[in-house]
Amino acid sequence: MDLKIFDRMESEVRGYIRSFPVIFSQARGSLLIDEDGEEYIDFFSGAGTLNYGHNNPVFKEKLLEYLAADGVVHGLDMATSAKKEFLETVDRVLLKPRNWQYTLQFTGPTGTNAVEAALKIARQVKGRSNIISFTHGFHGVSGGSLAATANMKFRDAAGYALGNTTFMPYDGYFGPDVDTMAYLERMLDDPSSGLDKPAAVIVETVQGEGGVNVATLRWLKELEKLCRRHDMLLIVDDIQVGCGRTGNFFSFESAGIRPDIITLSKSLSGFGLPMSLVLMRPELDIWKPGAHSGTFRGNNLAFVTATEALNTYWASDAFVSEVQRKERMVRDWLENLAHSFPNAGLAVRGRGLIQGLVTTAEPALANRIAQQAFKRGLVIETSGAQDEVLKLLPALTIEDELLTRGLETIESALAEALGESGQSARVLKFGGKRR
Ligand code: PLP
Repeated sequence: MDLKIFDRMESEVRGYIRSFPVIFSQARGSLLIDEDGEEYIDFFSGAGTLNYGHNNPVFKEKLLEYLAADGVVHGLDMATSAKKEFLETVDRVLLKPRNWQYTLQFTGPTGTNAVEAALKIARQVKGRSNIISFTHGFHGVSGGSLAATANMKFRDAAGYALGNTTFMPYDGYFGPDVDTMAYLERMLDDPSSGLDKPAAVIVETVQGEGGVNVATLRWLKELEKLCRRHDMLLIVDDIQVGCGRTGNFFSFESAGIRPDIITLSKSLSGFGLPMSLVLMRPELDIWKPGAHSGTFRGNNLAFVTATEALNTYWASDAFVSEVQRKERMVRDWLENLAHSFPNAGLAVRGRGLIQGLVTTAEPALANRIAQQAFKRGLVIETSGAQDEVLKLLPALTIEDELLTRGLETIESALAEALGESGQSARVLKFGGKRR
């Protein structure tokens, strides 16, 4: 496949094309198809933007109807029928059943812009500039969100000193025996700890980019309590693990907490169309009209598919059980794998359908598995500070057969990758060959 034009014309900054060096031309459900007609099972889901699969036929039909009827497409934040229907649907499907009241702010279409807005409003409301973020946290790569992003690769690219953020250890940062919440509490309680009083805490309940680090529900509950006690706003960045990725629509629901501000993006439109949203407690909405502006704050095509996604998957609890069932399938498989290759030093962590196979003993192994998996027709990425976590992000709607085939592929890719490093691999039960 000829990728020369990408090399010749595109900036060195290009990323995923390097992991998946083929030209994709079609996509359906959990399959990607390249220009040679080769099929790939997608365990990456457009970095978490495709929780309902590629080109979901239900949403596609609505989109085609909308376009055929000359529905408004341009993206200013004007009132449109598509936006009205989306607002009504959020109210009916997400807010009313939970008895929640949140004001919605449509930001520029990338996740990072929702985070920017969340941080800005928190700082305005509290009149303080410091924000607490966590080790291994990822919140985007524009100025404000980058300051709250831990990974040096991204921070180094800023070209100026990033500030107004204090990093605290995430749950489990020092291993299972250290209570990082006790550390944060002490830092906040002690007026001479050196910590500037923060306006807010921004947290991911599961750190997607940071290596599938899972905060316990107890830790999240304690964090909420600490926020209340110290007059800090709690921002949950649900951009990667919201929209059903962990089972419930919002990832923090199982912890029973109520953030002051929530950021959503990625799978919100359900179709891979760019769209971001901030939900904030109504009294926090002290914005002046247009103060956080942006030309593309009303992606009408995204409103159409997002409305359909909420109606199709979230109007009842049935989908939650379906995600939980698939979580068990993936989890059991990965745990068996870790047991079957004891010399590889593998661990498994995750929640819902974001699961990580951690190659602690040999960090480079995760990337080798991903490369071998791609050769066998599986699109999968790694995450973590050293890319040491093979991150499984299949569509929540993936068919069992494809899910199993993808897992089998990981198994054979692992055996091959271990062979490369001279480690003995056990005899494989499944072929997992390239079709
Ligand atoms: N926040 C979280 C938790 C994310 O995972 C991401 C992207 O991976 C972002 C923010 C930034 O979103 P975007 O890349 O659309 O700017």
